[in-house]
Amino acid sequence: MATTVKIVDRPAGWKRQSYLWGTVQGLRVTFGHFLRNWPRNLLGRRAQSDIVTLAYPEEKRAYPPRNRGLHRLMKRADGQVRCVACMMCPTACPAHCISIVPEESEDARIEKRPRIFQIDELRCVVCGLCVEACPCDAIRMDTGMHAWPTIRRADAILDKEELLSRGEISSATQGGAGLFWREKK
Ligand code: SF4
Ligand code: SF4
Repeated sequence: MATTVKIVDRPAGWKRQSYLWGTVQGLRVTFGHFLRNWPRNLLGRRAQSDIVTLAYPEEKRAYPPRNRGLHRLMKRADGQVRCVACMMCPTACPAHCISIVPEESEDARIEKRPRIFQIDELRCVVCGLCVEACPCDAIRMDTGMHAWPTIRRADAILDKEELLSRGEISSATQGGAGLFWREKK
């Protein structure tokens, strides 16, 4: 197949060649928005439809329900952590940012629980695979919060107590129907 060359017309006339006219038109739009919104800003009467930017952090846009925020660990009805240290979430995590050290639980109905549960929020890529992998509704990302900025890297590593501080009681069936039957026994 023969190659064809598209000839592009060069702009003619001083208006197009100098870009002056295009610059003037752009500035006209910019100043038009400025003059329209500036008095409203000054008087505190912002119209959301006129101004597309937000004065963050004073103003915040509501996140959609499926937003993935800062992690939290959920609790059982008696306040114990729901996590059974099954290692599904660190296995699924593509960033290898979850560290769990399991221990035996004093509760005979529960085989294991995490002694150490850490998430490095600086390595986390907020993919949500840990939440998807968890069979017990033990880890969630529904806080609507961002990982906060830190000066020291160590401060970005959230430990079990920190993750549990945002946790609430979950009534999801723990670990599937089999364990539910054992719990009810
Ligand atoms: S959201 Fe993704 S990257 Fe972050 S801890 Fe969970 S699995 Fe790992
Ligand atoms: S997948 Fe759930 S139960 Fe398993 S270790 Fe992670 S948080 Fe705990």
